Amino acid sequence: MPFFDRLLSSLRAAMLPPDASGSAKAAGGDPAHAPSPAAGLGPIEALGPDDGAPVAAPRGLWWLRWRNLVATSWFMFIPLVAIVLFTVAMGVILWSLHETERQQQRDALYRDAAWAQQRVRLSLLSNQDQLASLARDIAAAQLEQGAYRTAAQEILRENPEIVFINWLDATKRGRWSLPSTSEFASRLRENQDQPLEPEVLDTFDAARETQRVVYSRPLVNERGDSFMLMEVPIVRDNEFLGALYSINGILTHLLPPELTERYRFSLIDKNNQTRASTSLRPVPGNALSYEVLLDPPGHSLSLRADAYPPASNLPNNMLLWLVVGLSCFLLWSLWSMWRHTSRRSEAQRALLAETSFRRAMENSMLIGLRALDLNGRITYVNPAFCRMTGWQENDLVGRLPPFPYWPPNDQQEMQKQIDLTLQGKSPAGGYEMRVMRRDGSSFYARMYVSPLVDSRGRHTGWMSSMTDITEPKRAREELAAAHDRFTTVLESLDAAVSVLATDKAELLFANRYYRQLFGWEAEGHLKLAGDDLDKDQVSSDNTDYVDAYAGLPASELMPYASDAREVFVPDMQKWFEVRRRYIQWVDGHLAQMQIATDITVRKAAEEMARQHEERLQFTSRLTTMGEMASSLAHELNQPLAAINNYCMGAVARLHSGRSTPEDLIPVLEKTSAQAVRAGTIISRIRGFVKRSQPQRREAALHDIVADAVGLADLEATRRRVTILTRLPTPPLTVYVDPVLIEQVLVNLLKNAVEAMAGLPALHAGGVVRLHARVEPGEIGDSVHIDVIDQGPGVDEATKERLFEPFFSTKSDGMGMGLNICRSIIESHQGRLWVENNADGIGCTFKIMLPLQSALAEH
Ligand code: ADP
Repeated sequence: MPFFDRLLSSLRAAMLPPDASGSAKAAGGDPAHAPSPAAGLGPIEALGPDDGAPVAAPRGLWWLRWRNLVATSWFMFIPLVAIVLFTVAMGVILWSLHETERQQQRDALYRDAAWAQQRVRLSLLSNQDQLASLARDIAAAQLEQGAYRTAAQEILRENPEIVFINWLDATKRGRWSLPSTSEFASRLRENQDQPLEPEVLDTFDAARETQRVVYSRPLVNERGDSFMLMEVPIVRDNEFLGALYSINGILTHLLPPELTERYRFSLIDKNNQTRASTSLRPVPGNALSYEVLLDPPGHSLSLRADAYPPASNLPNNMLLWLVVGLSCFLLWSLWSMWRHTSRRSEAQRALLAETSFRRAMENSMLIGLRALDLNGRITYVNPAFCRMTGWQENDLVGRLPPFPYWPPNDQQEMQKQIDLTLQGKSPAGGYEMRVMRRDGSSFYARMYVSPLVDSRGRHTGWMSSMTDITEPKRAREELAAAHDRFTTVLESLDAAVSVLATDKAELLFANRYYRQLFGWEAEGHLKLAGDDLDKDQVSSDNTDYVDAYAGLPASELMPYASDAREVFVPDMQKWFEVRRRYIQWVDGHLAQMQIATDITVRKAAEEMARQHEERLQFTSRLTTMGEMASSLAHELNQPLAAINNYCMGAVARLHSGRSTPEDLIPVLEKTSAQAVRAGTIISRIRGFVKRSQPQRREAALHDIVADAVGLADLEATRRRVTILTRLPTPPLTVYVDPVLIEQVLVNLLKNAVEAMAGLPALHAGGVVRLHARVEPGEIGDSVHIDVIDQGPGVDEATKERLFEPFFSTKSDGMGMGLNICRSIIESHQGRLWVENNADGIGCTFKIMLPLQSALAEH
């Protein structure tokens, strides 16, 4: 598929600009609408050479592969079956040929063995007849002695198988023996007295009894040669004419060489012992063999013929090897054809899968592809291109510019782009264009162009890929608008927003307000960070600061860094509320974001309020003193009057001359005590009205109560009310502003005393109680101080209103006392409230001051 290859290589080039390695760069720094090469071509890259094959048997499952092969190449079995049938038929033919040949050999063997048997028999019978005729002649005594020898010699000469002829008389002594030189003749001569061998004797006996020719059992001489004796009776005096056959000679002389060449003939006695063989050449075990009996004549001798294997049957063998060779060749050619076919079918399958995959990919691709030839004629468009433009393939392929999808207003611009494309000057980062669909609607697209090079490396045209960027463009515009909005908001904020890199003192971001205050300097960020960032530590060449956060994700730092704190910048004499948190900057690095709001005005107002409060508290204390001025004067008057009285008495006594210094000592001591009393009152008043900064410190509760009761007592005494206190033991140390708490207690005691003024109960003497105790609570221990009176109590409806500023039921009352008391107690994290007493007489003002928090702050 050269076209596909061409197409794909061009497509790759078209979608990957030469200088771009990532998608973001490919779009010329515009990641929002950059076509992702991975999305477009990823599957092609990922596709392995084997992928997509319809039946891919896993390696190792050879049987599955085999099954696949059979399923796909069953037709290949037909020649195989034919070859097998051919081979079998050839085998059967060869086997039957072999069998026929064997049968022929067997028949020849039978024939030849029978012929040899006849030959031997006839020879023996003929010899037998000759000797019998000679015996008859001897019996008839027709010839002279010498003639018999001559006849016998004639017989010996004509029949070489007879090695010895002799004439024995009735005593078995030889009359003559021929040849006289033979070993048998000499034996007969030398051993006249020796008994003959039993075989020979038996033969004699048998011949004598039957008066017929008798053959002996085989005799064996010292050399192992076998012989057979034939005794012919001479019907006269029990004489015998004997002839000794060499059994070997029978075979050698009686059988023609053409037979002995083809067979090994053996004479076998009845004990199955081989007496002689024509040859010592061995015959194979499976050689054909045939045995016939010779007897008569002979003594139970058998003739056996063993066929030698025939000389090589060249045509037959050649035929056999030809068949075998041809079969092998056929099998090999079939196998190689089979292999070739299976490879081819596999390649076909792979090709088919590849083709269908590429077709599917081409159809499902969302990127429009267009190929132009060197003249600008459209040679190819993919389905996505058709879908995008709304034009059919037929409408586009073969067209020259202007193309139907060019918007009428952009014709010139489009023509310019096409010209650039054909000159190979199209921008590597692609270009944007508006595309008009067939229905008249239009969209924005981005085109990338690359040269189309065929498989032989020839430049044949230009490949373009088109991506619809309407949506990314809209998203980008929206993003830009959102960014503008965001920037506008940030820029117009009345707070300084800055982001500082944590690894170096570099300002990553600063809004307008920050820039107005500090310019583009990181110094401002550090100033706003206050004491938390050591300026020496965070410097451009110090990296220790980074190490403190190294490896910590921003999420872990955030909980510790997102607090708000108030920072005073001395250079600017301004207060800022600074909120700070660690964020992951756009480059992934840790950065510190700070938002600083100018709170100088608020701080000034708070300071004013605080000072106002202080003044109010001070004024209130002065007012209290003023209210108690008459009581104070009265109270001071008493010791002063007493001092005066004591001094006057002492003077009188001194004038009278009656007194001694001892008498004056108690008087002077009393005078001093009264002066101390007056001094104490004055010092308390001074302490009470002293203008000082509110300051919390450790103080003894007993001292505070004692001072307060001391002051309140002035009024109480005047109104004949008694103040009783009950304080916790051991003495308690609290962390408070003692003057303010004393002010509260004085106020409450004075109110209590005033509430009881004019009540009938007073005649009996009213009592105001101050009880203090420590109680455990949910958030720790707290000290509870109750001021209990016996006055009219408080109306439920106005219970809460008592604490409002300027609420007073008294004609001369300011109505600020309780309000100040509550704010003092609350500034100590405590509570102040009022409850009517359970017995219905009077009410109790209750103070709760937490001990823990007071100490904790300490
Ligand atoms: P002032 O004493 O100047 O009126 P306060 O704020 O001290 O201002 O008291 C406000 C009002 O609360 C008093 O006018 C009085 O009516 C009421 N009040 C204060 N203490 C008691 C009390 N112990 N028993 C009854 N009413 C009280």
